[in-house]
Amino acid sequence: MKVIGITGGIGSGKSTVVGMLRALGWIVYSSDETAKLLMDTDPTLQAELLEAFGPDVIRDGRVERAVLAARVFGPGEQQKHDLATLNRLVHPRVIQHHLDLLEQHDAEGTELVAIESALLFEVGLEDGFDYVILVDADPEIRIQRVMERSGLTREHVEARMREQMSPEEKRGLADFVIENNGTLEQLQRATEAIASIVALMPELDVS
Ligand code: ADP
Repeated sequence: MKVIGITGGIGSGKSTVVGMLRALGWIVYSSDETAKLLMDTDPTLQAELLEAFGPDVIRDGRVERAVLAARVFGPGEQQKHDLATLNRLVHPRVIQHHLDLLEQHDAEGTELVAIESALLFEVGLEDGFDYVILVDADPEIRIQRVMERSGLTREHVEARMREQMSPEEKRGLADFVIENNGTLEQLQRATEAIASIVALMPELDVS
């Protein structure tokens, strides 16, 4: 089974690419989606979040993501500390959940599975994949897209970009790069091209 990593900085367009790959029939697990699922359904994780962040972050058995985001995203030292705590609690569970899914797919004879993670390189996961696809766009375009999408301020977006590995470094580690500086139609064509090439690439012995 080929296991493909998909990554890219905030606003690069990786969620859009994931949507396009799914439409092409790819099985793609998103680390963000898995984190949300586990935060809403895993009682052990919920108990740990409650202990770390206090009762405000859980309501009616679900994690209040807006409250949590306000706590962990921002320039302050406390926010950085809280983000590290959140990552320490959530990341290992997301990785384990994906490993279980990969094992299941492998046993079922699935040919290709992809996992999207914004922090794939930051967490040092690249060796677990046959190939890694990086989605990238110019910083200014990324800032504008995120501001439009989320209403976050420029300072906020730039702070989050600074927390991530630089695009130059990511490009050095990726096997394929999808440039997303153009229209959605261009992104669709680039995604289709990369999907075809990856499907033709040999499976590597990465396990
Ligand atoms: P990421 O998941 O990397 O943060 P998204 O895929 O959510 O990025 O893209 C950020 C925003 O930019 C979304 O609102 C998305 O619809 C928009 N977007 C992405 N690519 C393009 C493009 N080529 N043209 C116009 N808008 C785009």
